Amino acid sequence: MSKSKSSEAVKVVVRCRPMNDKERASGFERMVSVDVKLGQIIVRNPREASAAELPKIFTFDSVYDWNSKQIDLYDETFRPLVDSVLMGFNGTIFAYGQTGTGKTYTMEGVRNDPERRGVIPNSFEHIFTHISRSQNQQYLVRSSYLEIYQEEIRDLLSKDQMHRLELRERPDTGVYVKDLSSFVTKSVREIEHVMNVGNQNRSVGATNMNEHSSRSHAIFVITVECSELGVDGENHIRVGKLNLVDLAGSERQTKTGAQGERLKEATKINLSLSALGNVISALVDGRSSHIPYRDSKLTRLLQDSLGGNARTVMVANIGPASYNVEETLTTLRYANRAKNIKNKPRINEDPKDALLREFQEEIARLKEQLEKRVGKKKRRQRRRAGDGSDGEDLEEGETEEDDEDGDDKGDYWREQQEKLEKERKAIMEDHSLVAEEKTRLLKEKEKKMEDLRKEKEAGEMLAAKVKAMESKLLVGGKNIVDHTNEQQRMLELKRQEIAEQKRREREMQQQVESRDEETLGLKGTYSSLQQEVDFKTKKLKKLFNKLQAVKAEIQGIQEEHIKMRQEHEQTQNELTRDLKLKHLIIENFIPLEEKNKIANRAFYDDEDDCWKMKPITRIEDDHQMMSRPLSAVGYRRPLSQHARMAMIMKPDMRYKAENILMLDMELPARTTKEYQEPVIAPKVAAALENALRDEDEIQVDASGFHSSLGPTPPASASSSLKKPKSGRPRTGKKSNTPTSPFSPSSPGSLLYPQSRGLVPK
Ligand code: ADP
Ligand code: MG
Repeated sequence: MSKSKSSEAVKVVVRCRPMNDKERASGFERMVSVDVKLGQIIVRNPREASAAELPKIFTFDSVYDWNSKQIDLYDETFRPLVDSVLMGFNGTIFAYGQTGTGKTYTMEGVRNDPERRGVIPNSFEHIFTHISRSQNQQYLVRSSYLEIYQEEIRDLLSKDQMHRLELRERPDTGVYVKDLSSFVTKSVREIEHVMNVGNQNRSVGATNMNEHSSRSHAIFVITVECSELGVDGENHIRVGKLNLVDLAGSERQTKTGAQGERLKEATKINLSLSALGNVISALVDGRSSHIPYRDSKLTRLLQDSLGGNARTVMVANIGPASYNVEETLTTLRYANRAKNIKNKPRINEDPKDALLREFQEEIARLKEQLEKRVGKKKRRQRRRAGDGSDGEDLEEGETEEDDEDGDDKGDYWREQQEKLEKERKAIMEDHSLVAEEKTRLLKEKEKKMEDLRKEKEAGEMLAAKVKAMESKLLVGGKNIVDHTNEQQRMLELKRQEIAEQKRREREMQQQVESRDEETLGLKGTYSSLQQEVDFKTKKLKKLFNKLQAVKAEIQGIQEEHIKMRQEHEQTQNELTRDLKLKHLIIENFIPLEEKNKIANRAFYDDEDDCWKMKPITRIEDDHQMMSRPLSAVGYRRPLSQHARMAMIMKPDMRYKAENILMLDMELPARTTKEYQEPVIAPKVAAALENALRDEDEIQVDASGFHSSLGPTPPASASSSLKKPKSGRPRTGKKSNTPTSPFSPSSPGSLLYPQSRGLVPK
């Protein structure tokens, strides 16, 4: 299965985005400089106090500054990777970095602008152009799109966006997402459509897209299968899988102050990303034999891309402004570590799960069926012809060949139909037949025609199916003669050459740099003592600077380490507290027996990564079920000896507990009636409604209202307003009676509001 066993390092490139308008307007200083030729990123320290501190220098495979074009990145860094995917290697591109530094810009870019399209759309173009130029090869391209958010996998192409997918593992093909939908795409337009659908689904359900995308990982997967005739005369299939990963923002989610659910959420959000960091550390450490892939969904899913069978490119995105410096340094250190991961990519030849093989087999099967069908027809035709009615004859060998094309088939059907029609007419016109006989024969013929039609339809359907399946398999070599295409190809080749040259130049420069330092110590002969002193002083200075840089780096890493440690400790404390609380509840409120039962039933499901409960069974003395008390053997419940005897001897129902069917309580017949509301006249109803309105809505017209007693009602009147002494509910009848003390007609009660229903408007 493998063609190349050699290991190769993960390629790491860094891209620094331009200052945005806001940063420029606020006058932020640029702290990052990029040496494209040398492949170096230089970061100055913004702190005043440490102005004397040397800038930090990081070297990468390639670096891109704010002027870099999408197409440059593609040609230099991504094109070779996609090319190897087309050859049958697995490939992965990660975009890593703080939110707002251009991960999505690098991966997707600006959709409608060809200049600013990112890797994903550019790779579509690349893949399908490659296929159209290929010869004697069959391709099948399919794509999937998924998202990991809070350790849950969502299929962005499925109709049901609430459904969560699980990871599964098979010994032969490794980790995969169960039930992940994948779409066969036949052109750039189709695959773009798939991406757009996914992107739309991504924003569905996200209240704030920016926040959501900064907390979730999006993975676009393109699988390219290619079938080609090998030297051994057999068809061989190579399968390359390209993972395009837009990671969550690498800035740490703040956990400060978060508790309980919120804390767990914050812990979960970046779980995949910190697990990714741990995996990288473990991989480059060299000492650890255990790589914690299983710690998160992301690392499990991309296990092959990290230290496995894949070519991997990591793009680390950084921002240039001073307020980003800390995160920028963290990103650069992270990327620096990733440089040392070694992968073992190989061409995936004839894997068991190649869909192309399935398609080819299915097409062959259907074709065979179709041919058999036609063969059967022909034989039948020949037999009929052999009866000697029409005189047309067929040669013996022809049926065996079965190599007629569509036209012949059409002719055949037409012939058959015409023949049947003729026969039908003949029967109709044949006066020698009895009417009954005639109808019977006619029916027979009609049935035959119906059968013929059905058969034809089935054949057509089969042919359509074959066609549909074949159309999914892409073959090239159709428009290579195209002149523009030829020119374009030359241009592409030239661009690739330039990219390659640039890369080599950079490599050479880097080598020269490192050799300079080495040779410094080799020049051992000096003409004079002074010269030696000068030389050694220079060397000393250089080494001293280097030492300082390393020391500063150590300090930086230590600081970061301490910060992370503190955060972990905080998380641990919170979780311990949570655990203690749960223990407290269990110890004090759950009977020991029940606790043991649950503990016995619980088990950890490795597949689903969660705890589950075994179903309750009666086996042995699992203590899962309460056993029947000894006094009730054979009965549903414990019974006394007397009851048992009475059950057998007496006809009395009382002891026949097992026979009781009616378990409801028996109730006496009702002696009361349901309350029915009295019928209210419409006028009264309106008045009532008015009276029940909110206080503020009521406009009280107090103009004609004068009081000599002041605003407060007299105490006696107020007490008379209170509830009637008896506990019975008020009937409400009184409120409108003219004798009411509150009524305006009564001059005695001065300061009561008017009855609501009668407010003059
Ligand atoms: P991320 O996905 O890392 O959160 P985005 O890709 O959304 O960041 O980028 C944030 C903003 O910066 C976007 O408006 C994007 O257009 C802009 N941007 C990022 N990188 C570049 C670049 N290299 N050139 C021009 N604009 C960029
Ligand atoms: Mg983004």
